[in-house]
Amino acid sequence: MTLTDRLNRPLHDLRISVTDRCNFRCVYCMPKEIFGADYPYLRRDQILAFEEIARLARIFTAHGVRKVRLTGGEPLVRKDLHRLVKMLAEIPGLELTLTTNGALLAKQAQALKDAGLNRVTVSLDSLDDEIFKAMNDVDFPVAKVLEGMDTAAQVGLEPIKVNMVVKRGMNESSVLPMARYFRKKGYILRFIEYMDVGHTNGWRMDDVVSSAEIVKMISAEMPLEPIDPNYRGEVAERWRYQDGGGEIGVISSVTQAFCRACTRARISAEGKLYTCLFAVQGHDLKSLIRSGASDDELSQLIARVWGKRTDRYSELRSENTIDLPKVEMSHIGG
Ligand code: SAM
Ligand code: SF4
Ligand code: SF4
Repeated sequence: MTLTDRLNRPLHDLRISVTDRCNFRCVYCMPKEIFGADYPYLRRDQILAFEEIARLARIFTAHGVRKVRLTGGEPLVRKDLHRLVKMLAEIPGLELTLTTNGALLAKQAQALKDAGLNRVTVSLDSLDDEIFKAMNDVDFPVAKVLEGMDTAAQVGLEPIKVNMVVKRGMNESSVLPMARYFRKKGYILRFIEYMDVGHTNGWRMDDVVSSAEIVKMISAEMPLEPIDPNYRGEVAERWRYQDGGGEIGVISSVTQAFCRACTRARISAEGKLYTCLFAVQGHDLKSLIRSGASDDELSQLIARVWGKRTDRYSELRSENTIDLPKVEMSHIGG
């Protein structure tokens, strides 16, 4: 039976963070100064085991979830992730996707496809090595990420989507080159407004490049027109090139909040359930599992939490909300 929350939103998508660790230090997500070697990352026994994740995913599916996205931190640094994919792929009626920085994708794409993964989204913020390296802050080259995407496309993890976070003063100059390149490739490029997630990225409204600005910038060279969403609650607003050369998406989490249609729940790497990206507190599913809770008990807790949900942070965002306590992006995966 489909669950709905207090604002009549069904529970449709589940994002599962499989690790809080990452091989990048993107300045807008895990700034180096804070996420150094002495940062208290979760220990192996503090994160959910694959069996625990698969059990939860089954219970969520019974509540109406049809899409699961694996994320992190960087999901591909979790050892043997393809084993988890295989377990999840056995659950009937689930669409299974993954968001990755692409660094380890070329190596793992075939195993992930064979295990039953449907698609991947790869994050890339620039085609210019200097800009990209300044953003990932670990000197990682663009070419390796492109190789990861191409391998994913070759093994059939399609259509490939590419996520680009645009931060003013860092990579606006990469918007047009990215649009030109991925239009030719036939991958769907999506521009994400820089968000005030967590507390460590020093977010300021002035650093946000709005979706409207991006659409205008691209349209001036390659005219765009809006197209209908694929389904209710799709976060990306779709635009297609008027000459038939494919489409882009813009995710306006800051300037045009889409809370009204938000149907997603999140499970953090340590097994907490969050009903919003900007939630203050999660509900501890891991402790319940490890204290011997039955499927019924877990299912009832999920139903209670979703039934009470009223979150709409982005619609309420203002100068006053920026300093509220929030969970870090690398813990719940965007
Ligand atoms: N490591 C993987 C990756 O980068 O694709 C998955 C996790 S990452 C947290 C998920 C997505 O969140 C990425 O596309 C990333 O660019 C985006 N993201 C991280 N911090 C963000 C921020 N402050 N504002 C907007 N998007 C952000
Ligand atoms: Fe890592 Fe992804 Fe965050 Fe970048 S955005 S630091 S790749 S988790
Ligand atoms: Fe959903 Fe929360 Fe984002 Fe609004 S702010 S769209 S409720 S995750």
